[in-house]
Amino acid sequence: LTIPDFQNFCEKVKEIYESVKSAISESEGETAAYIPQLSKVNKDLFGISICTLDGQRFDLGDAHENFCIQSCIKPLIYGLALEEHGEEIVHNHVGREPSGVAFNSLSMNKKNLPHNPMINAGAIMSCSLIKNSDPLHERFDYLMNKLKELSGNISWGFNNSVYLSEKITADSNFCLAYLMRKNQVFPKNTRLEETLDFYFQCCSIETNCNKQSIAAATIANGGVCPLTGRQIFNSLTCRSILSLMSSCGMYDYSGEWTFKIGIPAKSGVSGVIFSCIPGLGSITVYAPPLDEIGNSVRGIEFFKQFVNAFTVHNFDNV
Ligand code: GLN
Repeated sequence: LTIPDFQNFCEKVKEIYESVKSAISESEGETAAYIPQLSKVNKDLFGISICTLDGQRFDLGDAHENFCIQSCIKPLIYGLALEEHGEEIVHNHVGREPSGVAFNSLSMNKKNLPHNPMINAGAIMSCSLIKNSDPLHERFDYLMNKLKELSGNISWGFNNSVYLSEKITADSNFCLAYLMRKNQVFPKNTRLEETLDFYFQCCSIETNCNKQSIAAATIANGGVCPLTGRQIFNSLTCRSILSLMSSCGMYDYSGEWTFKIGIPAKSGVSGVIFSCIPGLGSITVYAPPLDEIGNSVRGIEFFKQFVNAFTVHNFDNV
């Protein structure tokens, strides 16, 4: 077993959960105001799911509450682009350095490419690379099927009101896409409006801690789903995803996160943080109120305490 005394491990996780819940009230932090549907969610929700590489699972609190995935789709669509085109072609269109600026900043690297696939411009680029010549409904189906496979055949949802809300508040995403078109960095034949539409749909996919943690464990497991034993992504794709989650996954807190927490992770403005722990499995935390950078306040605190309790920081064993 990946974690021999799983029950004892879960007890400790529960203690951390309770300690974070009482130390940080739901009034600390704000839900994302720029997408109206996100600002309305219950600020008190707090869920955690764990999935180990051999499929041991643990759910706590609001682990089955649905929420929209937002930026946590970015590593997954980057993975799909890599599976289809390989590293070289994908990285002709998107860089792999941290940006040092906010996720929606109108900023490109020296080659006029998005800084990395973990921020908006880079994720719009990933969208442009997925089944580019197919009609949008086929591309969306393809993505939804892949997500289902990553999470051991559990279906994912779609939140139409978030999608509509996303679409009418998307000025900065339109700016990024037009800037990239002006720079001529999209793949040939990219249909800009359709690509943006695909990106908004990606952000509006509904997940919960439970299925997110299974998908994350698949990535931590080199692409083999712990529940079905099927190879969904190749291991090189997973290595690339994990590398960029390590360096760029937590917005402009990524350096601090790697220093303090030291495991690959990605956060989204709905208040989710998922992490992959190579050799162990994955943890997903959902608690909507965000700090100024856009990371879940309770989520960050949970991971700080978790890493202290279990020495899972990448460099704990040196
Ligand atoms: N839908 C959001 C946007 O495009 C996603 C950003 C995020 O989660 N950081 O602005």
